[in-house]
Amino acid sequence: MSETKEILLYAEITRSKYIHTVFFELAQKAVELAGKLGDCKISALLFTEPNHLENYKDGFLKSGIDKVYVFESEKFNTYNTELYSKLAIELIEEIKPEIMLIGATNEGRDLAPRISSALHTGLTADCTGLDINEKGQLAATRPTFGGKLMATILCKTLPQMATVRPKVFKPLKNDILRETEFDIRKPDLSEFRAKTEILDFVKTLENEINELDSAEVIVAGGRGVGSPEGFELLIELAKALNGTIGATRGAVDMGLAPKTIQIGQTGKTVRPKLYIACGISGAIQHLVGMQDSGKIIAINTDENAPIFETADFGIVGDIFKVVPELIKQIEK
Ligand SMILES: Cc1cc2nc3c(=O)[nH]c(=O)nc-3n(C[C@H](O)[C@H](O)[C@H](O)COP(=O)(O)OP(=O)(O)OC[C@H]3O[C@@H](n4cnc5c(N)ncnc54)[C@H](O)[C@@H]3O)c2cc1C
Repeated sequence: MSETKEILLYAEITRSKYIHTVFFELAQKAVELAGKLGDCKISALLFTEPNHLENYKDGFLKSGIDKVYVFESEKFNTYNTELYSKLAIELIEEIKPEIMLIGATNEGRDLAPRISSALHTGLTADCTGLDINEKGQLAATRPTFGGKLMATILCKTLPQMATVRPKVFKPLKNDILRETEFDIRKPDLSEFRAKTEILDFVKTLENEINELDSAEVIVAGGRGVGSPEGFELLIELAKALNGTIGATRGAVDMGLAPKTIQIGQTGKTVRPKLYIACGISGAIQHLVGMQDSGKIIAINTDENAPIFETADFGIVGDIFKVVPELIKQIEK
């Protein structure tokens, strides 16, 4: 009799204490992969403070998760690389999953390589596609050579690990109800001493308002924004709309914005309800990262800019004139 396989998903808890949306995107992919593997259960790994599980239960019950390994401790109020990776490694050694998927958030990007290097297994980072090949292996696809090629990577060792950026996969359309088992563990961490300690969280341009991954409104700037003052203007517009800001590679290369908020083929994929493209020409490498947004508004001085072909609404004009007027109207 063959053994039941297991796909383990990392359930990241955000600083605002909700399950990161990328978890639900991974869950829907895991349901598909498990179907192809056959006789495969889907589990989740959760680190949480005591008595917080109730807040998260519904999310697991509705997303096709068979079992949740719940680690409870006061120490899990803030992410800690050493502690989380140590416990994740111990769990993986115990349950031996075939596949482990982690969201390519800041936390996931920190955690995943720690785990894979300690377990001497392969990790494909920032995947844009996941499938099961004819041999039952995880076929993880990601851009390579600066986005010029797509490579499908196989891993010879277990677990086969991959990270996936938020918004690359769509979340479940309908609930998948399962009888989820909650395996609650209270690890003894009295002896644990971390080498690092988080002293403070400092706001940067990219987390000024909301996280790009979950923002419903994104105001993005391109080369046309021209200067840091131009970006300040976009931040003001984003704040007025309770959104956040993004940038093109053009703007990042000019030093106007950090790489962490670059949107596109070699940056982040976003799907906000509203995307306002300011001084962005609409190169295909940018469009692939934002074209699934609900509504797209483009502001550009060049009426022939390709962005207008993708935009739902276009404003031909100078952002330094249009954006202040927009802010004024919104504030009214
Ligand atoms: C392998 C590869 C990967 C890439 N990955 C990415 C990626 O992930 N993301 C990405 O964005 N790009 C990426 N690029 C780069 C991409 O091809 C474009 O070069 C880039 O998107 C252009 O950025 P932009 O629109 O800001 O600049 P430009 O193309 O220079 O456009 C600037 C626009 O601003 C307008 N403008 C100027 N002044 C004003 C004003 N005052 N008011 C209003 N409009 C104004 C202009 O009319 C123009 O249309 C990649 C390229 C390659 C080859």
